[in-house]
Amino acid sequence: MCAGIKVVIAENIERIYKQNCQNLGVLTSTDFSLIDRIRGGQEIPLSEFTAGEDEITRQVIEYGGLFPFNVARMQKKVFLPQIEEAGKSVRSTRAMTLAEKIFARHMLNEKGEVGVSAVKPGDTGFAQADLRFSHEYVTPMAAMFFERYVGKDAKVNDASSIIFFRDHLTFLDEVISEEKKKLGLLDLATQLKLKQQDFALKQGIKLHGELKDRKGSEGICHAIVLESYALPGQLNIGSDSHTPHVGAIGCVAFGIGTTDVFNSWITKDVRVKVPESVRIVIRGKKHSNVTAKDFILKILSLEYVRSGKALAKVMEYAGEAIEELSVDERATMTNMAAEIGGFTGIVAPDKKAVDFLMERRGMDRRKAESMIEGLYSDPEAQYAHVIELDAAEITPMVATPGDPGNGKYVRELNTPVPVEIAYGGTCTAGKNEDMDMYAAVLADALKQGKRVAGSVKFYIQFGSQETREYCLRKGYVEVFKKAGALVIEPSCGACINAGPGVSTRPDQVVISAQNRNFPGRSGPGQMYLASPFTVAASAVAGYIVEYEPSETFVEV
Ligand code: SF4
Repeated sequence: MCAGIKVVIAENIERIYKQNCQNLGVLTSTDFSLIDRIRGGQEIPLSEFTAGEDEITRQVIEYGGLFPFNVARMQKKVFLPQIEEAGKSVRSTRAMTLAEKIFARHMLNEKGEVGVSAVKPGDTGFAQADLRFSHEYVTPMAAMFFERYVGKDAKVNDASSIIFFRDHLTFLDEVISEEKKKLGLLDLATQLKLKQQDFALKQGIKLHGELKDRKGSEGICHAIVLESYALPGQLNIGSDSHTPHVGAIGCVAFGIGTTDVFNSWITKDVRVKVPESVRIVIRGKKHSNVTAKDFILKILSLEYVRSGKALAKVMEYAGEAIEELSVDERATMTNMAAEIGGFTGIVAPDKKAVDFLMERRGMDRRKAESMIEGLYSDPEAQYAHVIELDAAEITPMVATPGDPGNGKYVRELNTPVPVEIAYGGTCTAGKNEDMDMYAAVLADALKQGKRVAGSVKFYIQFGSQETREYCLRKGYVEVFKKAGALVIEPSCGACINAGPGVSTRPDQVVISAQNRNFPGRSGPGQMYLASPFTVAASAVAGYIVEYEPSETFVEV
């Protein structure tokens, strides 16, 4: 926009990117014939860019962006389509999925009040958010928009339900190249941190920042939101594609772009189109060395997902094998709804969610149980598609380099794959239960007189300080160090090529428990994705192996 670009034409345009463009007043299209028409000096009617869009999106585009649209909305000058009522009594008894029920609780009605009796896929409107968060990659730009359009001294709407995080670039200085330093990129990264700090202070917004006594962060945004903030039935928005993480306790949580972050600070709501849901049922009992990560890598490898049919839909995970998973493990699957390209991921909150709220939040049972009331999908709810899997048929998986969808069973790897770097951490695999898994494998290895292989560097990075303290209490840190693993304070770090554990050569083979292995994301190496069990077992073996639990192994 600053470079004067007015139109973006591409083969396909991802949801958050497209919404950012619309919000900024930059037009988008997938129609390549426009190029010649524009080159030929033809005038293109605005209707060509609004065709097929819903009523609200059309008006946002016509107003030239979300901010001018919202100003008009507050002046009651825009037309907000009523969420259809096919006879109130019929609508209020419409069978809904869990996500639809949560949307219905949060959508604004035509009077601007929160809550409608029912929604269905395709309904558009504004939904009030219970929690809005952003990190240092995004907050500064949103803050600049806020100061420019709303005013330098203006106050955000309800600072108490906004949270900021310093998590992405805490360790950047340790791995950034001299060349990039010379370009001033480290200074720019520091500016991001400072701008976020200043804005938080000025606005009275809670910032989970850097540690005072040592290097590291308080935690990765998704880890802290799950540990300390999100509640079943909430609608949460965050400036990051892995915001669906907290769907593990039954929230609708989704990623939004910078422009939506900025607008939500003014209106406390977010523009949404109610998505369709896909129900993914995993029946039966899993093997003891199989984890939620293996389930999600399996799901990502399915044709339905690989062909893009799941894009922008809600992934609702269910079935006995999911019910058996803890909230930490469920979060691995809701987090990676982002790799599916889904709108979000969700699991109906049950006894495991109640236990989580009691153990991790100190909530009393009655309060925790009351929170999950009514939070289930109706038996007659409609889904765009249902996927059924048998947990017993799934063995440990890897995704081969280049794409999280390149899933195959470890036992299908034709030749031994030696690894140089093993990495356990990030929002996906830096939780308490992930640490249980690294510790179980390394404790087993120590008992057998083994350690991390001499040819491998194994990094274990906590997702949050709460997880670090958990590891200290359980004696895991001692086990990690004794086995030869390198232990790192919380941050996104290597996941985004900004911390210890990144690869430095194209031929370097990495096995990581993180969520994505797109080329170059975590350095130039060849990254395999796997579960915490497989990552730790491979670090000990020196090549990719399935973890084989010893007889003394206790399933976590
Ligand atoms: S750990 Fe990686 S995937 Fe998770 S929030 Fe940070 S950068 Fe994103």
